[in-house]
Amino acid sequence: KQAAECPLNTEELGQKTWAFLHTMAAYYPEQPSFTQQQEMAQFFNLLSKFYPCTTCATNLRNSSRQNLCQWLCELHNHVNKMLGKHPFNCSQVDERWRDGCKGRS
Ligand code: FAD
Repeated sequence: KQAAECPLNTEELGQKTWAFLHTMAAYYPEQPSFTQQQEMAQFFNLLSKFYPCTTCATNLRNSSRQNLCQWLCELHNHVNKMLGKHPFNCSQVDERWRDGCKGRS
C-alpha cells in the first residue's frame, strides 16, 4: 500500500496534530471568556490522556506541569517587579512548592 493509505506513524501523527494545535491556538480569542479558558484547559487535559502515542501523552502530561509552574512563576515575578520586589529564581520553583522540606505532610 502507498504510505498515504497506511495508519499514521508517530512523526506523521505529530506533524498533523501540531498543525491542528498551532492553528487552534492562532485563532484562540484575544480575550477568552472564563468558560473558553476552562474548556481549553479541559481540551489539553484530555489530549494528554487520549493522545494515541503513549510516550507522547506521558511527556505531554509532564511538560504541562513544568510549563504551568514556569508560567506561573514568571507571572508572579511580573507582579514582584511591579511591586519593586526581588524576582524569584524560577529554576527553584519545584524545591519551593513541591520537593523541599521532605518529611512534612
Ligand atoms: P513537527 O515538530 O511536527 O513540527 C511541524 C511544524 O511546526 C514544523 O515544520 C514547524 O513549521 C512548526 N513548528 C516547530 N516548532 C514549533 C514551535 N515551537 N512553535 C510553532 N511552530 C513550530 N514525538 C516523540 O518522539 N516523543 C514525544 O514525546 C512526542 N510528544 C509529542 C506530543 C505532542 C502533543 C505532539 C503533538 C507530538 C509529539 N511528538 C512526540 C511528535 C513530534 O513532536 C513531532 O511532531 C515529530 O517528531 C515530527 O517532527 P517534525 O520535525 O516533522 O515537525
